[in-house]
Amino acid sequence: MAQTKKKIRHDHGARKKEMKEHYDAIIVGTGAAGLYCALNLPEKMKILLITKQEADQSDSFLAQGGICMLRGEDDYENYFEDTMRAGHYENDKRAVDLMIRSSNDIIRDLLRYHVDFARDGLGNLAFTREGAHSQPRILFHEDITGKEITSKLLMQVKKRKNVQIH
Ligand SMILES: Cc1cc2nc3c(=O)[nH]c(=O)nc-3n(C[C@H](O)[C@H](O)[C@H](O)COP(=O)(O)OP(=O)(O)OC[C@H]3O[C@@H](n4cnc5c(N)ncnc54)[C@H](O)[C@@H]3O)c2cc1C
Repeated sequence: MAQTKKKIRHDHGARKKEMKEHYDAIIVGTGAAGLYCALNLPEKMKILLITKQEADQSDSFLAQGGICMLRGEDDYENYFEDTMRAGHYENDKRAVDLMIRSSNDIIRDLLRYHVDFARDGLGNLAFTREGAHSQPRILFHEDITGKEITSKLLMQVKKRKNVQIH
């Protein structure tokens, strides 16, 4: 028993050393957060993405409704208030601000990764209203927005030579 424990400790230590030597960053999870993080780290970094399931199995793949975006400065206060109210005013205000302020850059990135959001008759992005949002500020792809976003992120990650998925 003691020998087995010693061996497990040794193997664990060896694996840790091996990981430290091989990778500059280890990301846990292949949902939207983990994949987007991998795509935003410098390509000179060696990255390991690990998941406890298959890479295409996560809540991110199941998300149906859509993703919100700040459409203009005049909607900032409403957007902030809607988010705080939905979180029973327990949200970290700095995180809410960051989410709203970074939404345009993130949507731009997603479009660059060929995420196909619904369009109106003129070819502009179509916004809908759902959940706690008082204004139409949700971009969507049918009722499988999470799958559309996450599968496109995964496709981009798989093209990166510096990222390994386990
Ligand atoms: C049915 C449904 C509908 C939703 N609809 C919407 C919506 O319309 N709009 C919206 O904004 N949000 C929606 N959400 C919420 C949204 O899906 C999540 O907030 C978002 O996907 C979280 O992304 P994430 O990358 O942080 O986590 P996840 O997508 O949950 O990914 C977590 C990853 O971590 C891995 N992991 C976890 N524990 C371990 C471990 N111990 N070791 C290794 N790997 C681990 C998992 O396998 C997975 O790969 C919905 C969620 C569900 C379930």
